Formats: sequence, C-alpha cells, structure tokens
Amino acid sequence: MKQNLFVYNTLTRTKEGFVPLNAPYVGMYVCGPTVYSDAHMGNARTYISFDLIFRYLTHLGYKVRYVRNITDAGHLEGDADEGEDKISKKAKLSKLEPMEIVQTYTVGFHEVMKILNVLPPSIEPTATGHIIEQIELVKEILAKGYAYEVDGSVYFDVEKYNQAHDYGILSGRHLEDLLTNTRTLGGQDEKRGKLDFALWIKAKPEHLMKWPSPWGVGFPGWHLECSAMSNKYLGEQFDIHGGGLDLIPTHHTNEVAQNMASCGKNPAKYWIHTNMLTVNGQKMSKSLGNSFLPHELFSGNNAILNKGYSPMMVRFFMMQAHYRSTLDFSNDAMEASEKGFKRLMNAFTLLDGLTPSATTEVDIQALQSRCYEALNDDFNSPVLIAELFEASRIINSVHDNKLKIDEANLTLLKKVMQDFAIDILGLKSEQAATDELPKVMDFLVQLRSEAKVNRDYATSDKIRDGLQKIGFQLKDSKEGTTWNKI
Ligand code: AMP
Ligand code: ZN
Repeated sequence: MKQNLFVYNTLTRTKEGFVPLNAPYVGMYVCGPTVYSDAHMGNARTYISFDLIFRYLTHLGYKVRYVRNITDAGHLEGDADEGEDKISKKAKLSKLEPMEIVQTYTVGFHEVMKILNVLPPSIEPTATGHIIEQIELVKEILAKGYAYEVDGSVYFDVEKYNQAHDYGILSGRHLEDLLTNTRTLGGQDEKRGKLDFALWIKAKPEHLMKWPSPWGVGFPGWHLECSAMSNKYLGEQFDIHGGGLDLIPTHHTNEVAQNMASCGKNPAKYWIHTNMLTVNGQKMSKSLGNSFLPHELFSGNNAILNKGYSPMMVRFFMMQAHYRSTLDFSNDAMEASEKGFKRLMNAFTLLDGLTPSATTEVDIQALQSRCYEALNDDFNSPVLIAELFEASRIINSVHDNKLKIDEANLTLLKKVMQDFAIDILGLKSEQAATDELPKVMDFLVQLRSEAKVNRDYATSDKIRDGLQKIGFQLKDSKEGTTWNKI
C-alpha cells in the first residue's frame, strides 16, 4: 500500500498525470468548506452527495483517492477579488488569531460530518499548507504568458487565454456575454481585462495571513489552491471534480483556466455539480439569512423548524432527492420523509428474525440488479430508495407470513439491505441508541446524586457541566433531578 502511494505520488509529481496501477484507481477532488463560520445544511447536502459517490465507487471495488480541501486562506468576500479575506475578517472581529478561527470551524465541520456519517476523505489538504505549490503554479502560468504582474499582484489574463482556449467551457457561456454582464473596470483597477482574476494578491500592511513570494508579500487567490492541490495529489488529470453548482461560473471556471494555462489539461474527466438545498425556493445561504445549522435541525432549535430530526433522518431526506435536483426544505417534506425512513429502518431490524421457507415467491437477484442500475444511472439515490422500499415491503410481508422466501433469497435480501442502505446510503439504525439513552441518563443522574451526598462537588459539577456541553440540561428540584435535551 505504502509503495503504491509512493509510486502514485511520484507519477503525479513528475506531471505524468493519473496512471492507474494494478488496482482500478479513481481520483476525486471536491471543493471543501471555507472555515470562517459553521457549515450550514446546504453545505452539508453537497458533502453528503459526494459521500454517496465515494461510498458507491469504493463498494464497486475502486481504490478511491478522495481529496477534499479546507480553504483556510485567500477566500475574499467578493467574487471579483474585492473585500477582505473571510477568515482574517472574522479573526479581527473576534480578536483571535486567524488560525484559531480555522481550528474552531475545522473541528466543528468534522464533528458535523461525523454525526451525519460522512466518511472522511483520503486527503484533506489546506490552502495554507500548500503556499509553495501555489506560488509554483503562478510561476508556470506566468511563464506560459497567461498572467501578468502589477505592483506585487499577479492576474490571470482571461481574454488572452480565451484566444487559445474556451474560457466558458464549464458554464457554457461565451466570453462576449460574460464581458457584457460584468461591470467595467474602475480607474484604480490594476486588471487589464474585466474578467481577469487574481492569482496572487499583494497584502496590505494590516492583512493578517500573508507569505513572501517572488512578487512580494501577499496571499493566493482563492481558485489557485484547488488547481495546485488537485494536481499535487491526483495528477494533471483525474476522474471526478466536484462541488456545488454555485461554484461553476467563477471558482471552477477559473480553476479549469489555471490548469489549462499551466499544463494544457482540463483537470477532471467528469465534473459533478450538486444542486442547491433551498428554503422556500431560495438557495440556502448565509448571506441571504435563510440558512440553518445542522445542530439546529437536530434539536429543532430554529424558528423555521417545527421540531428536531435525527442526523440519520436528515441524511435520508437528502438522499431522497437526486443530487442534480434542487431540494427544497420544508417541515412537511421532512415529516413525509421521516415516515419513509422509519419504515426502512424498521424493516431492517426485522430482517434477522425472518425464517426462510422451502420455496420462494420473490426474486431478490432482480431487486439487487435494479439497485445497481439505479446507482449506475448517475448515482440515482431516489430510485435506489424506491427499490429499498420494495425490499422493506417484502420483509414486512415475510414477517407477517404473507410471503415466502427461501434461504438463498433471504441471505441475498440481507446483503442488499446491508450493502445499499447501510454501506452505500450510509444510514445507521438509531433505534438502539435512542432506546438506551434514558437508561444511560438515569445512571448519570444517579451517579451525580451520590457524589453530592458524599460532598464530592467536583464530580457532581463535572457531570452536570459535561452533560451541558453535549446538549443535556439537568434540573434539580425538591422531587429530584430531571434532564432534557437543550
Ligand atoms: P463554501 O464554504 O461557501 O465554499 O461552500 C462549501 C460547499 O457547499 C461548496 O461546494 C458550495 O457549492 C456548497 N453549497 C453552498 N450553499 C449550498 C446550498 N444551499 N446547497 C448545496 N450546496 C451548497
Ligand atoms: Zn475549489
């Protein structure tokens, strides 16, 4: 394994591109979060969608090298290289080091991903950890004549690039349209063309995150990191590049331009873009003020929500829509989805208790093939779920002695449920955990009471504060102690 990794990296570093070794490798790069605030449910939808793709390709036997970056520098507030760096701005507001902001939200992001059963990627590189690679890339683009330097900043020359390549290849938009719809440059602008974008930005003295470079002290443009890091870990061209579709017009368009300009290759064979999670038809976004956080959805603690939903239920809700369709959030849709989720999970728990008959009235192999067909058709999770509902109907009928299934079909049915519901859709039964919770809580309340009786207040406070931290509140009264989820 180690040897493979070494050979693979050597190949990518010598710029020979993605070369499958003995095993069928798949290289997948997904644009990760900018860690200046909590990831909202819309962000989570995108990562859940790619988790399904990661899980399914792995299930099929591919060795997937899944790279999902962390943007911890260089993402400015405005798309046109204006405004402050989002992380530095938050750091100044909170009077913290930028890296403290990065640490806080990276940890939070990982926690949410874990709760939602999103598998960690194979490599999670950061922009700040790859400044040297980014500087090298700027040098290459300059050497190819597609960038120019002005007073310590370096810009990509879009119009020149478009003479040899198609700048709008991803978005399907022509340069002329883009030029008409972009505001004209101001007198202060250093850019030569309206669509030019920054590869390297000169840092003002007060700028917090900055590095030395051949052009002076500055920081990389946001699009640069993904070109540099995907190239480093997956080669000049790899299989899948993804992100939300809001990234197409600027971030991914500019990424393609950077890669084409430096090495003449579009980085990905397949671009996969997930559609947006919307609220009342509007994209969920922090700036629109209609976003809510995963933990608010779990606890129900947001004015938009009628109640809270379990993380697995939320994951199931996301999977019920195809990744290329918009998914509109509403309480009604969640409630409808919750019924389906419970039906599926109940069926799963019945499986072990089913008794096979000598004969069979069902053909599970056909069902299994349909599950594969669904996912082979552009990872069509809603069609897969419809097949799993059919599996649940079979399980319930066998359980009620209304349908016969033989040993071989029953074994296959168990495999289909395990493979598709648990391993690929990434759902877990939450029944056991919620059933046991009151017992565990009562035990902790009891321990705390004993500590108090023994005047061991350090321990009793530790239990109360520890529970508070993970979202449980204890209330003392004359009748005793009760607990509730915050
Ligand atoms: P950001 O941290 O803003 O760069 O976003 C991280 C990822 O979440 C990107 O791939 C975005 O395209 C994606 N994203 C942002 N808003 C939504 C949304 N409402 N629905 C689905 N994906 C989103
Ligand atoms: Zn990116």
